[in-house]
Amino acid sequence: MIRPGKMVKQVLESLFKKPATSQYPFKKSAMPDRYRGKIIFHPELCIGCKMCVRDCPSNAITINKVGDKKFEAEFNLAKCIYCAQCVDSCMKKALESTKEFELAVLDKKKLKVIFGADIKEDVKK
Ligand code: SF4
Ligand code: SF4
Repeated sequence: MIRPGKMVKQVLESLFKKPATSQYPFKKSAMPDRYRGKIIFHPELCIGCKMCVRDCPSNAITINKVGDKKFEAEFNLAKCIYCAQCVDSCMKKALESTKEFELAVLDKKKLKVIFGADIKEDVKK
C-alpha cells in the first residue's frame, strides 16, 4: 500500500509531466515509414496473374477481368489484416501499402472497396 505522503509526491510530479498520450483525433501522429496501412491498386500495372489473391491469408482480394488486359481489384477491408503480403507478391508493383489507418466506418458495405481501370476507388453499393 502506498503511504499518503508518497502518493502526494507522485500526484504533484504527474501534474508537471508531459502527457504520455496524444490528443487524437485533433493531433495526429506521423506514421513510421514502413507502416502497413490501407492497400491501393494501380490498375494500369496489373496483368491479372492473381498471385495477390493466391497469397492473401485472409481471402480479402478478388481480381476481376473487366476488359482486354484490364483488371479491377476488389478489397474486403473487413477481412484484410494489413499484412502487405499482396504487395510483396505482386511482381508488377500494382499494389501499394499506404499509411492510411483511419478506416473505421459505420456501414459495413463501405468496407468493400473496388479499384478499377476507370475508377480509382469506389465503394461497393
Ligand atoms: S495486382 Fe499484381 S499480383 Fe495481383 S493480379 Fe495484378 S499483377 Fe498479379
Ligand atoms: S494486406 Fe494482407 S490481408 Fe490485406 S489484402 Fe493484402 S495480403 Fe490480404
